[in-house]
Amino acid sequence: MHEDEITAEPVKALLAEKMLFQRVFELAPDPIIIVDQTGTIVLANAEAEQKFGYKISELVKMPMEILIPQRYHKEHVGYRESYSQSPRVRPMGSGLDLFAKHSNGEEFPVEVSLSPLRIDDELMVIALVRDISERKLAEASIKEKAKALEFANAELSRSNKELEQFAYIASHDLQEPLRSISAACQLLEKKYHGKLDAKADEFLQYAVDGAKRMQNLIEDLLKYSRLGTKAQNFQSVDLNPLLRQVLEGLQASLQEAGANLTIDQLPTITADRSQIFQLLQNLIANALKFRSEKPPEITIGYREVGDAFEFFVKDNGIGIDSKYFTHIFEVFRRLHNAESYSGTGIGLATCKKIVERHEGRIWVNSEMNKGSTFYFSLPKRVGKYE
Ligand code: ADP
Repeated sequence: MHEDEITAEPVKALLAEKMLFQRVFELAPDPIIIVDQTGTIVLANAEAEQKFGYKISELVKMPMEILIPQRYHKEHVGYRESYSQSPRVRPMGSGLDLFAKHSNGEEFPVEVSLSPLRIDDELMVIALVRDISERKLAEASIKEKAKALEFANAELSRSNKELEQFAYIASHDLQEPLRSISAACQLLEKKYHGKLDAKADEFLQYAVDGAKRMQNLIEDLLKYSRLGTKAQNFQSVDLNPLLRQVLEGLQASLQEAGANLTIDQLPTITADRSQIFQLLQNLIANALKFRSEKPPEITIGYREVGDAFEFFVKDNGIGIDSKYFTHIFEVFRRLHNAESYSGTGIGLATCKKIVERHEGRIWVNSEMNKGSTFYFSLPKRVGKYE
C-alpha cells in the first residue's frame, strides 16, 4: 500500500462529509441560518435568501435580529444569551412560535428549531426556520368554522326547543275546544240520527269521524312533544317484563289477528322506562297493523354489536318500498290513507325521537309484500342521566 493512499482516506471522508453537509444545507426546504455567539449570521442557505428577501452575501455578517421584527429585538437578545449558557437541541413545535421579518418589512409567523454547533472553541447555533403562515391560516379558518358550527348548533337546539314547546302548548290548548266540538257532534248524531235526511246523517258521520281523527292526532302530537319536555330519568330496565306488559296491552289485537310471536330473552338496559315501553308498543303495533293476508309472524330479538345492543322487530307484513325508508320516520309521514290503515303518522317519529334521546339509532329494512324489520340500537351504558 502506498503512503499517499493511507493519507487519502481521511481526506476523502472529510470531503464527502463536507459535500453531504452542503447538499443537505442547500436542498433543505426551510431556511437554515448559522449564527455565532455574538448573534452574527455566518452562513445561510438558498431558502433563507428566498424567504427573507436578502442575498446570502448580504445576510452574512449581519446581526440576525434584522430577520426579526423590531418589537422582539430586546427579548430576542435575552433569549440568545440564555441559550448560549445552556445550549441544547430544541426541536420544532416546542412552543416557540415567533414572527420573522422579510426585507420588505412584511412579517410572517415561524417556528424555529435550534441546535448548538461547536466549531473549534466557538459555540455557534444552527437555526432552522419554518414559515407557518399557511398552517396558521388553516388553523384560524378551522377555528372560525368550529365557532360558526357551534353557533348554528346552539341556534338549532334553541329553535328545536321552541318548536317542541310550541307543539306542546298548541296541542294542549287545542284539545279543549276540540273536545267541545266532538261532544257536540256526538250529541247531534245521537239525537238526530235518522230524524233528518240521509245526506244530513252522512255529514254528521263525517264530522264525528273527523273530530275523532283530529283528537287522535292532537293526542299523539302532544305525546310526541312531551318526549322532550316531560322526560323521565334513566334507570335500569329489564326488557323482559316490560315487553310482557306491552304485549298484554296489545293482547286483543294480537289474538284477533292470530299473530304468532317469537321472542328472544332480552337484556337489561339503562333507559327511560316509559319511553322504551312506547317504542316497543309502536313498533309491535305497526307490525300487526301493516300485516298482509297471511297470519302475522312477529319476531323480537337483539344482538350485541360492540358497546351497543341492536334490537329488531321483524314482521311478514305488506313491506315498505325502499324509497320511503327514511321518510317514514318523519312526523305525519304515512304511506297509506286513513281508510286503508288507521293512524296519525307520528308513531315512527316518536320512536326515532326516543331512540335518539337514548343516543341510539333507528332504521328499517324491508321488502315489498315480504315484510319489514325495524332495528334500533341502544348503547349498553348511556352516559346521560337527566
Ligand atoms: P302510522 O302507523 O300512524 O301511520 P307511523 O309513523 O307509525 O304512523 O308509520 C309511518 C308509516 O310507515 C305508516 O303509515 C306505514 O306506511 C309505514 N310503516 C310503519 N311500520 C310498518 C310496518 N311494520 N310495515 C309496513 N309499513 C310500515
